[in-house]
Amino acid sequence: MRRDGFGDEHELFRSQVRRFVEREVAPKIAEWNARGTSDRETWRRAGEEGFLGVNAPEAYGGAGTDFRYSAIVMEELARARAHGMMVSLHSDICMPYLASFGSEEQKQKWLPGAIRGETLLGICMTEPGTGSDLANVQTRAIRDGDHYVLNGAKTFISNGQIGDLFVVVAKTDPAADPPHKGISLILVEADTPGFVRGRKLDKLGLRGQDTSEIFFQDCRVPASNLLGKEGQGFRMLMEKLQQERLCIAVSSVASCQRALDDTVAYVKERRAFGQPIAGFQNTQFKLAELATEVEVGQAFVDRLIGAHVRGDDVVKEVSMAKWWTTDLQKRLTADCLQLHGGYGFMLEYPIAMDYADAAVQSIYAGTNEIMKVIIARRMGLG
Ligand SMILES: Cc1cc2nc3c(=O)[nH]c(=O)nc-3n(C[C@H](O)[C@H](O)[C@H](O)COP(=O)(O)OP(=O)(O)OC[C@H]3O[C@@H](n4cnc5c(N)ncnc54)[C@H](O)[C@@H]3O)c2cc1C
Repeated sequence: MRRDGFGDEHELFRSQVRRFVEREVAPKIAEWNARGTSDRETWRRAGEEGFLGVNAPEAYGGAGTDFRYSAIVMEELARARAHGMMVSLHSDICMPYLASFGSEEQKQKWLPGAIRGETLLGICMTEPGTGSDLANVQTRAIRDGDHYVLNGAKTFISNGQIGDLFVVVAKTDPAADPPHKGISLILVEADTPGFVRGRKLDKLGLRGQDTSEIFFQDCRVPASNLLGKEGQGFRMLMEKLQQERLCIAVSSVASCQRALDDTVAYVKERRAFGQPIAGFQNTQFKLAELATEVEVGQAFVDRLIGAHVRGDDVVKEVSMAKWWTTDLQKRLTADCLQLHGGYGFMLEYPIAMDYADAAVQSIYAGTNEIMKVIIARRMGLG
């Protein structure tokens, strides 16, 4: 079925991205998963091909398109299971902070390199002591003359080893009441003295992602690295979380489709009791139900993409999509693994990694419980 909101020009772009992913990304995935990180050369190539910062302003080297093109890049990477290369984090989660809130000087300095795939981006929100409760971050950025001095610890930071520039959530006014008013966003380059990369964390899934600890130890950055105004950090984060969560929903549905397609192919091949297991009614009903849910999820996500491109406030609906599609992804990968029998438990079968990779989708970018808190609040409850 043709998708609403995606025309010929989008499909042309999709075929270009797919060709690039098949030729230059897919062959590297096994190595990334083994090493626990992607490689800079592939990022640079993606930049060269124009697949990074597709929404970023043309004045800085971006393609100036809309979020539909970002969604296509995410979908094609999810289709290839290229989770090590989190283009959405770089292009659609971190880059918009610079593009929307950066000063002209900041944009000139960092956007062109980010779009070329030379300056890789990350965001440091989560700390060992707090994730969901963002207003409670303990990392401090205290003004000292023309500088901020950062101290604190962050964890679970994607692109933590490979990243060059990080948006850091820190308290510039630790005494602020309410606490979220003391939060600011500071840009920190990874080669700044006092920026310390910690362990690359060993994870259940997303094996190709270098999720890491980051420490700030008397890390001095120029005051001009402040993004927007002091005390506005929380507001900026809230503004950008709609897109971050939509990215997760987009990739979730694409990952579901891939796992489903592979499972349909598998059950046609695998035989039991003298027939392909596709012949059992249980297999047919299970896959028919899952295929229906993927269509429902895709229709909802496509509607939200359209609304997001128009600039609508769809925080409530995006929160719905984020929890529902990621929940679907977890159920779907579990059911598809079951249909693979023992082979589903073997890592040589992609469904095993799909199952492991799905687990995090309901956790990051705001847990699914937090999504329901937001929905309930917007319904006027609590
Ligand atoms: C692979 C991976 C990559 C990540 N990448 C990044 C990154 O690049 N940058 C970054 O900053 N962070 C990143 N994170 C962190 C992620 O965003 C946090 O893990 C997430 O926000 C949850 O925070 P937490 O782990 O502290 O869990 P907690 O906040 O401790 O939550 C624990 C449990 O309590 C529940 N809970 C908490 N508050 C409520 C409430 N009010 N009502 C009901 N239930 C509640 C949660 O839903 C959860 O089930 C990443 C995490 C992972 C696993």
